Amino acid sequence: MEFIADMMLGRLARWLRLYGYDTLYGVEDDDEILRMAGAEGRVILTRDATLAERARRLGIGVVLLESNSFEEQVEELRHFGVEFKELFPANARCPKCNGLIRHASKEEVKGKVPPSVYERYGEFYVCTDCGQIYWPGRQWREMVKIDRKLRGGE
Ligand SMILES: [Zn+2]
Repeated sequence: MEFIADMMLGRLARWLRLYGYDTLYGVEDDDEILRMAGAEGRVILTRDATLAERARRLGIGVVLLESNSFEEQVEELRHFGVEFKELFPANARCPKCNGLIRHASKEEVKGKVPPSVYERYGEFYVCTDCGQIYWPGRQWREMVKIDRKLRGGE
């Protein structure tokens, strides 16, 4: 399942990427969202009933999310059949740009991460599109915590 999320769903879009779902985000124009979803077979995620109705009329897959809360939106997607199983970095996409993440060697990231990070960590990943480097630091631990919370809701 691939998605295109409207501008109100930034946090949800980032998390879908972290769970490995190809998710476009950042397209502001509804016509463009409909066009891309139709052309690429993406399911539209939106909080906008008008956009959802337009998508349905065009036969495009759409989930109209009712909640403003990220945790509840995850629940709504679960009801739709979306699984939140394999968290970053396995099969994950870059939360910033939707690019694919791959493992990076320690040598490869030398000089590209702060020296303290380079010294302390041995595990690195890099986005094949934007080049963002990831390691199991504070942000990563926060992510794992939220993942546990989301799964606890299952
Ligand atoms: Zn990226």
